[in-house]
Amino acid sequence: MILKVLVILVLLYVGYRIVRMLRRVKARDVKGYRVDAKPSKGEDLVQDPFCKIYVPKSQAYVKEINGREQYFCGSECCEKYLSEKK
Ligand SMILES: [Zn+2]
Repeated sequence: MILKVLVILVLLYVGYRIVRMLRRVKARDVKGYRVDAKPSKGEDLVQDPFCKIYVPKSQAYVKEINGREQYFCGSECCEKYLSEKK
C-alpha cells in the first residue's frame, strides 16, 4: 500500500518539524547573554537599558524612544522600561 507509506512519511516529517520548532523555542529562552558570554562571531552586542543584559543586535528587540533606537532583550523589558520612564 503506497498510500500508507506516504501517510507515515508525512507524519514523520510533521513530527520532525514539531521537534525542531520546540528546540528553537527553547533556544530563544536563553537568548539573554551575559557580558562574559561569547557572542557569535562578528556580531555587535547591544545593552538592554532595563535589565543591563547584552544581547546580539540581530536578536534584540528594537524600539524607537524619543527618536533614538533602544535595544532590549525582549518586548517585556521594553514595556517595563517605558512604564518606568513615565
Ligand atoms: Zn531585558
